[in-house]
Amino acid sequence: MQETIVIGAGIAGIASSIRLAKKGHRVNVYEANDYPGGKLSVIEQDGFRWDAGPSLFTLPHLVTELFELCGEDPKLHFQYDRHPTSCVYYWEDGTRYVLPGTRSEIAHSMASTFRVSADRVDRYLKKAKRKYELTGPVFLEQSLHLRKSYTSWSTLKTLMQSGGLGIFSSLHKENERYFEDERLVQLFDRYATYNGSSPYRTPGIMSMIPHLEMGIGTFFPRGGMYAITQSLVALAKRQGVQFHFGQRVDRIDVKDGRACGILLNGESISADFVLSNMDVFATYRRLLAEQTQPEKILQQERSSSALIFYWGVQGDFPKLDLHNIFFSGNYKEEFKTLFEHKSIYEDPTVYVNISSKCQAGDAPEGHENWFVMINAPGDFGQDWEVLIDRVREQVKDKLSRMMGVDLNDRIVSEAILDPRTIESRTQSHLGALYGTASNSRFAAFWRHANFSKRIDNLYFCGGSVHPGGGIPLCLHSAAIATKMIPEG
Ligand code: FAD
Repeated sequence: MQETIVIGAGIAGIASSIRLAKKGHRVNVYEANDYPGGKLSVIEQDGFRWDAGPSLFTLPHLVTELFELCGEDPKLHFQYDRHPTSCVYYWEDGTRYVLPGTRSEIAHSMASTFRVSADRVDRYLKKAKRKYELTGPVFLEQSLHLRKSYTSWSTLKTLMQSGGLGIFSSLHKENERYFEDERLVQLFDRYATYNGSSPYRTPGIMSMIPHLEMGIGTFFPRGGMYAITQSLVALAKRQGVQFHFGQRVDRIDVKDGRACGILLNGESISADFVLSNMDVFATYRRLLAEQTQPEKILQQERSSSALIFYWGVQGDFPKLDLHNIFFSGNYKEEFKTLFEHKSIYEDPTVYVNISSKCQAGDAPEGHENWFVMINAPGDFGQDWEVLIDRVREQVKDKLSRMMGVDLNDRIVSEAILDPRTIESRTQSHLGALYGTASNSRFAAFWRHANFSKRIDNLYFCGGSVHPGGGIPLCLHSAAIATKMIPEG
């Protein structure tokens, strides 16, 4: 039986461990934290429960297929519901728009709020679907770095060069071409943040992202997002995977050009294969410090990070839903501040996620659990204490103004996550949420492969490698990496 070590119990590490156990490997997962999930974890305080990281759940079949792979009925272990609405959007001019959760309702609903025809919206969404279906199998479901993928992606390259996929324009330009109403352009520009990029720089091909939400749907796991982590860890254990929590790996051992184990607490543990779910930057810098570093890849621009206030809020806010967005009055300046000035804009876009809308037990009676997230730059040594105090006041003012309530006396509990703590808790370089940024048209090709080209038997999964960050892509990375590892 082949011995395989997985470094890190993030979502991709857990999914990989399941796939490897199913392939007949003996799998040991070493996780630095004393809990699983990495970014997909939980915060509990004063009777409130918040999902610490991801709040938007799309493509649930990528989770349930892991149960099916192991011959189990997913419904017995992991349940989720389709949410009837996608998101509630607020603008400073008083516009409040509820984006329906069903594709057939969206075009007419947008036409009734914005200066746009239903036909125009319909055409945009059809194009988004086409882009997703065309590029998904090539970019997301296989390695871009193997010879056998060349034929399919050379066809795609030709298509991209024809301009049909919007690779030569930015997402913002693509949206401006379709819509004249600035609010609608902003709504569709926002999808750049789903991979931590700027709509003014990320290529127009990203206009496929709305298809996931508007074409396929948004979902909410019963028990909250953390139920994804919990149910998959339980599944992995049923497959015989051994988890070792509170165990920070110090080195990947390499002998004769081949990964042969790890160093942990001064002790060598041998293995036939090593799969790193740790951020690829940290893997090279800390665990492979004596090996040649793929410098060009490691120097790539990172995705944005976030500042999150987990607020326990007293009261009931019926106009708010599971997902809510309060837009900045100047989106362009917000992204310039983020990526060029490495700071947080004075009027930031605020995302408020309230899981207690779906999961009553997440907040005490008469309260709601608000996850209040603002796009933030990575940690470049800014004075975060000053920045956090400034942004807290600006966010409270903005939400109070736009909702017509005074939030000042209503916040009864607060926890905070910022780029520094995101990095210290997950080893994500600079606190990036999604690995490298997609701020260039070639970003998809420049991510690190799911295997090492120099060191045999060393593989990579997770948000910092191909195909990128976010739960669905991390799950794809697990499938791609483990497919390359021989049967156990
Ligand atoms: P990570 O979660 O990065 O975990 C890596 C693990 O490796 C950690 O547990 C870490 O402790 C461990 N590790 C690191 N070094 C070592 C070592 N030396 N030894 C042992 N263990 C080690 N995605 C979505 O799909 N939807 C969303 O709505 C969404 N929102 C987000 C909001 C926030 C605030 C954040 C932070 C992320 C969000 N994301 C979202 C992105 C998503 O969370 C990530 O892309 C994904 O969870 C990353 O998973 P991963 O497998 O790369 O591992």
